[in-house]
Amino acid sequence: MNEKVDKDCIFCKITAGEIKADIKYKDDKILAFSDINPQAPVHILVIPRKHIATLNEADGDILGYLVSAARDIAGQEGISESGYRLLVNCGDMGGQEVSHLHVHILGGRKMNWPPG
Ligand code: AMP
Ligand code: ZN
Repeated sequence: MNEKVDKDCIFCKITAGEIKADIKYKDDKILAFSDINPQAPVHILVIPRKHIATLNEADGDILGYLVSAARDIAGQEGISESGYRLLVNCGDMGGQEVSHLHVHILGGRKMNWPPG
């Protein structure tokens, strides 16, 4: 078995093209696609192609790459100037529902603080 892929992981299936997604960006390391249940006018998820379950298992190289790409994708979406939020939920208490690392890009409306 290829340990970089979890056969039961929904985001690995999107990466493999087995589940359709509205792809916003892709390269050899990462993929970005629209969230299926958007919480803001712009809601995009940026994920590593490799299956990394949570932020706790991610090294600095991929984290830097994901955040840098998320910043650039926000620019492509036209929300750099108005502002946006990058968010990573980690584990149960962090509210993570899909166990494949992802960075949320949220924008196009005023974000609330504190989050729920
Ligand atoms: P989290 O709670 O941080 O794990 O976020 C998981 C996110 O994945 C949620 O915002 C879901 O709406 C989103 N999601 C789940 N399945 C899909 C899918 N097939 N395509 C796009 N987004 C998805
Ligand atoms: Zn996965």
